[in-house]
Amino acid sequence: MFDHIECFYRPSTLREALVLLHKTGKRGAIVAGATDIVTRADRTPRFFIDVTHLGLDYVRKKGRGCTIGAATTMMGLEKSPIINRLAGGILAKAAATCGSIQNRNMATVGGNLANASPAADTAPVLLALDAQLVAVNSRRKRRIPLDEFYTGPHRTVLNGELIEEILIPPLPGGRSGWSFQKLGRTETDISLVNAAAGLQADSRGRIKWVHIALGAVGPMPLRAREAENLLQGNALSEDSITRAGGAVMNQVSPISDGRASAEYRREMSRILVQRALRECAVQAGFPIMN
Ligand SMILES: Cc1cc2nc3c(=O)[nH]c(=O)nc-3n(C[C@H](O)[C@H](O)[C@H](O)COP(=O)(O)OP(=O)(O)OC[C@H]3O[C@@H](n4cnc5c(N)ncnc54)[C@H](O)[C@@H]3O)c2cc1C
Repeated sequence: MFDHIECFYRPSTLREALVLLHKTGKRGAIVAGATDIVTRADRTPRFFIDVTHLGLDYVRKKGRGCTIGAATTMMGLEKSPIINRLAGGILAKAAATCGSIQNRNMATVGGNLANASPAADTAPVLLALDAQLVAVNSRRKRRIPLDEFYTGPHRTVLNGELIEEILIPPLPGGRSGWSFQKLGRTETDISLVNAAAGLQADSRGRIKWVHIALGAVGPMPLRAREAENLLQGNALSEDSITRAGGAVMNQVSPISDGRASAEYRREMSRILVQRALRECAVQAGFPIMN
């Protein structure tokens, strides 16, 4: 499988990894848990640069937000008290659905994002949480809003850079609610559709802040901005949730494949977002009556 690989580097500092990344250029590839890279048909890389020994496996609280090292595993997210307390624990919930225990012990959050699968399970959550990525190479370090990170299926704006960490900004507190929804053949299968939502309401149940994101319904994970705009400033009600679901169906552009038809995915995008919003409403203290 890896007979085209001439050398597997295991640097122990970020600086060493960046020098290797620079030296190997287009023939070098970053590898973390290797749970995606093993499935690749691309035989261009000649050198693997392992980023799992650089001290990038951490979760740190930062005010009402946090920073997550790119090499943090899905199991690390699942087990982290900080991630379980953040935004109703939706990132921990998403991480817990990323395949088997064996997979989650190896799979990293940086790999999940950099792989840029439209169906990646941490992506809609991190989009809904307004996450930014810190990307670094031997010459510069920059912040990339996750919303501007993807350019297509398995394509990103990374240019000879590695993701060092993920920043989650301070999130709304008070009357807020959060939800992660996943539809797969089984609970830990790759998503047919996934969705994440977060909202904050005022004391009368009017929506002050709302973010909705989806995966596996387009070439890349996306924010459902039309639905957000419809909800913003309005009361949490069955009617507003129905209209938001309609807007989501209009915005998504799923494909048909061996797992599901485009029509099914489109319909399920509506249902998952409506479920997510209802769950958020309950947590915010304004349950929606059917
Ligand atoms: C059986 C199985 C089940 C799975 N189920 C799910 C699932 O339910 N949900 C889901 O979302 N995924 C699933 N996956 C996919 C995979 O496990 C995840 O996407 C995982 O998070 C990838 O992380 P990794 O560390 O293994 O990445 P790797 O395979 O090591 O790398 C993936 C890509 O990211 C790049 N990369 C890795 N780290 C960095 C970094 N720090 N900076 C820049 N580039 C980097 C690599 O160069 C490569 O291009 C599954 C995979 C398998 C094999």
